[in-house]
Order: sequence, then structure tokens, then C-alpha cells
Amino acid sequence: DAPAAGKLSTRFDLEKETELRFEVEAAEAAEQVELELLTGMAEVFGSELNRNKKYTFGPGSKIAVFTWQGCSVNLYGKPEVAYVSKDTPMLLYLNTHAALEQMRKQAERDNERGPRVMVVGPTDVGKSTVCRLLLSYAVRVGRRPTLVELDVGQSGVSVPGTVSALCIERPADVEEGFSVQAPLVYHFGSTTPGTNIKLYNKLTSCLAEVFSQRCEVNRKASVGGCIINTCGWVKGSGYQALVHCASTFQVDVVLVLDHERLYNELKRDLPHFVRVVLLPKSGGVVERSKDCRREAREEKIREYFYGFRGVSFYPFSFEVRFSDVRIYKIGAPSIPDSCLPLGMSQDDTQLKLVPVTPGRDLTYHVLSVSSAEDGEEGVRKGIVESPVCGFIVVTYVDTQAQVMKVLSPAPRPLQRHTLLIMDIRFMDMK
Ligand code: ADP
Repeated sequence: DAPAAGKLSTRFDLEKETELRFEVEAAEAAEQVELELLTGMAEVFGSELNRNKKYTFGPGSKIAVFTWQGCSVNLYGKPEVAYVSKDTPMLLYLNTHAALEQMRKQAERDNERGPRVMVVGPTDVGKSTVCRLLLSYAVRVGRRPTLVELDVGQSGVSVPGTVSALCIERPADVEEGFSVQAPLVYHFGSTTPGTNIKLYNKLTSCLAEVFSQRCEVNRKASVGGCIINTCGWVKGSGYQALVHCASTFQVDVVLVLDHERLYNELKRDLPHFVRVVLLPKSGGVVERSKDCRREAREEKIREYFYGFRGVSFYPFSFEVRFSDVRIYKIGAPSIPDSCLPLGMSQDDTQLKLVPVTPGRDLTYHVLSVSSAEDGEEGVRKGIVESPVCGFIVVTYVDTQAQVMKVLSPAPRPLQRHTLLIMDIRFMDMK
């Protein structure tokens, strides 16, 4: 398990309550960086490091190694930056965890439900990281919290363009994050909630309902509560979506990262029993460019089909006859109010299933495979609110032969399936 010969090795001795931050260059060919804990104890975003084990971080990784007691670590390879910071909000985050844990204890005692927490703030303030931290801490003290992922741009659970929920049973893996087994995933179809805010709110409510049902039958899930990660869009309809989420999930705590105005607005607009807390962001959170985000999205889709790190998947490629599937887009283009049929509102058009006639422009689009049974008009109603069971990408369309070629994780030809089209495209460059 020795690092590659000739790799630069740098030792860092960290005092207690400090962190080593490092970034790996984003270029695909960039050299990976390995991390090893030599003495003491340390954690990466809430997950403890094992001593003398080498953890590998690939291109684009931005990592903080925090220590409560002090430690020494080695980095092998050439990180783009690496420095030690004494100035971290980790103590505040730990206190937040402690307060949530108190609420769980009380819930246990009084036979009530545990805390439902919504994490909000603009992009790049470390929302996902705080969620990961709180979930890992909770699971480390024996809780079974649920992660609710509402960030349709950068989902930590599934491909972009989806919202989802995941029961957390063990701390995040230091290198790979949470193990994603059997998540509940809904199709949204684009990377910003603004493209169809009505649908976004609807799906938030679906997740809240399923979570509440689970809490009714599973005491541990109920006591564990949930941590909700949200989008960085905090103005206008984006703000309204946060208020909607707080209400539909009946959240008890809102953690606002680094945004005083948002904090004041939520304090004003949410019921008084909701605890709204302002927390600073970590100086270590790195702003990501548009390109960087796009790459992260593509990577997420690639991982879905091909796996990552040690685990390789071998996706299938086959032809699907147009006549064997039904493809829909959710939401009709909005038309002026005056043109709407009598008794119909704009809201109705946003949740409407619009049949898509397969054509060349379908190429490279990601399609969600709905779990809803295909059926007549009446049955079709449930499609928007049904979870999805997987995704495919259209790689080629032959309009003459009326078939399309798809990339799929499963070998089974799709028959009589309902597919939902995303705005998101994926070009398979492998
Ligand atoms: P948001 O969810 O608000 O968009 P993230 O939690 O995804 O932000 O954080 C953005 C990036 O910053 C991630 O790559 C994360 O690994 C990195 N990061 C977070 N906290 C730290 C830290 N303390 N030191 C170094 N990098 C960090």
C-alpha cells in the first residue's frame, strides 16, 4: 500500500481544532493525491480517518481534514493548494449537532418525532458539506437520519435533475460519500427549480409525504429525523420554494448558512416555533465555476452508468422501438392566461404530461424510467408523482426505422415503459 514511487510526500502537524485544506487539480489527467493519518485522530466532513490507511482523492476534490485533538498527516502527490487553517466553524457545527441530538433524545423520551432540519443558503456556502457532517455525526451516535436532497443541480444522491431521499445507515465513506442504496428518486427534469417551480414544489411535497409515512411505521426513522439539502436559489420563487418545503416537511430547525437577509426573511415568514439559526460558512468552501458545476453533473451521470473508483459497471446499449415506449415531458410551455381554456390555470399546464414525438432532437437526452404502470389516460395521472426506477440516455435516433438506441444500466429491453424526458443531455465520450 505504498504511495507511487517518486510521489512528493508532505507532512502536516495539526494542532487541536484546526484543519488541513487541500484541493486536487481539476484537469482529468491530474495526479491523484493520497492522504494518510500518521498520529492522533482526524475526520473528513464528519467521517473518522483510520490510521495508516491511504485515502485517494481524484481531480477536482476539495477536502478538509479536521482534528479535535491534534494529529499528523501526510499528503502524497502535488495538491493544487494545501494549507492549515485555525479558523473554522466546526465547533458551531458540532454544537448544532449536539442540539439536534438533544431533540432526538427528547423525542425518544416523549414518544414524539425527531428534528426535521432544512439547510439553506446561496450556492457554494457548504450546504451539502454541512448536511453530510450532521448526518455522519448523527449516525455515529446510533441514529438513522434521512437525507432529503432537493438540490436538482448538484444532487449528492442521484443524477442531476432529480430530487430524492436516502436513509443513512452508516457515516459517509471518506472517499466516496454516502453509500447510495435504494434511494427514493423523483424526476424533475432540469438543473434549476425555476424551469418548473410548480413541479418542484409538488415533488417536495411527495417526498415529505413518503417520509412522514415511513416515520409512522419506523420509530428509528422518526426519531432520527431528516436533514434537507436545498438549492442555492434563495430569491423570488426560489425563496417561496424554501418556505413551501419548510411547511410541507413541518421542519423544526432551519440552518441558514452565511446569508443574513435570508435568515431575517425566514424568521419573519416561518411560524414562531421553527428555530431559524444563522451559521457562518467555512472559509474552506471553494467557489465553483459554471464549468466546474457542469463537469460535476456530467461526472454524476457517468458514474451512474459506468460506476466509479473500484466499482465498474458495464452498461448496455440496445435499440428500443418507438412503439414500445411512451415518452413524456412534464409541463406544457406556458401560454398567456387569456389563451388558456376556461377553468384551466397556469398551474395545470406545469404539471401536464405532454407526449413527445421521438425525433433526432431526442439524441443525448437523459430519460427517466418511471415506475408507474403504463396505462390509459386515467392511470397516467400518477406518473408525475411516481418515483423513477432508473435512467437511460438516447444515443441515436433512427426516424426511418422508428427506433432509438439507448444506453441503459439494465439489459432488459424496455417494453411498454413510460419515459420522462430531461432537459439534461449526456454525451458518452467513453
Ligand atoms: P454547496 O452545497 O453550498 O454548493 P458544498 O458543500 O458542495 O457547497 O461545498 C463546495 C465545495 O467546497 C465542495 O467541493 C466541498 O468539498 C468543499 N468544502 C467544503 N468545506 C470545506 C472546507 N472546510 N475545506 C475545504 N473544502 C471544503
